[in-house]
Amino acid sequence: MPSIFTRIIRGEIPCHKVAEDDHFIAFLDINPLREGHTLVIPKVEVDKFFDLPIDLLSGIMPFSQSVARKIAKVVPCDRIGVSVIGLEVPHAHVHLIPINSLGDMDFSKPKLKFSPEEFNVIAERIKNA
Ligand code: AMP
Repeated sequence: MPSIFTRIIRGEIPCHKVAEDDHFIAFLDINPLREGHTLVIPKVEVDKFFDLPIDLLSGIMPFSQSVARKIAKVVPCDRIGVSVIGLEVPHAHVHLIPINSLGDMDFSKPKLKFSPEEFNVIAERIKNA
């Protein structure tokens, strides 16, 4: 069965996309820790991050860098935190989170709620940054 992220890539499930190239796609996390919390995923479905083939492993950071720079332009923050977890969705991905303090990276905290319109606005701002 395809992962929920593969279904997003196939267009079967909507997402708030902020960037895409031949190998990767970035979209807003639906349960964000912070406004602008973004996921970067390879289009190839591989469960564990360190099982990615070396070309994708070495390509995902430059792609994430370009996305992180855009996020930092539009979301006031001290820096962009980076995390790899994968306990919920078995499709390798990088979390990019605008942070001001260590607590902003605490995944056990309640997630923020945004309306579809609010997600659209922040996705467009990041995309066009
Ligand atoms: P983890 O696998 O633990 O790194 O967490 C997976 C992340 O994917 C969580 O932060 C979820 O909120 C997020 N997520 C799950 N489903 C979707 C979706 N359909 N669109 C955007 N983000 C999602």
